Amino acid sequence: MQIFPCPFCGPRNETEFHFAGELGKVRPATAEKIAAPDWATYLYAQRNEKGLVHEVWMHLTCSELFVMERDSVTMQVLDTRSLREDAQ
Ligand SMILES: [Zn+2]
Repeated sequence: MQIFPCPFCGPRNETEFHFAGELGKVRPATAEKIAAPDWATYLYAQRNEKGLVHEVWMHLTCSELFVMERDSVTMQVLDTRSLREDAQ
């Protein structure tokens, strides 16, 4: 079991969280015109980088999305922050 720090609720069990995607992934503006293989790549392909990663997670209890900075090798969570901070 791992503890993730929700920026709104504090430390919680990892089972309360859902991975929402890698930070910076941009939805194609012309989704209805994009080729199916390219759409599938957008939906399912991940960079899956080794080391420092920035990801979007959802805390299912409070339904807030937030950015988690973590080390994908050690699984250590280095920081979490609200997505609202990135939007400003
Ligand atoms: Zn929360």
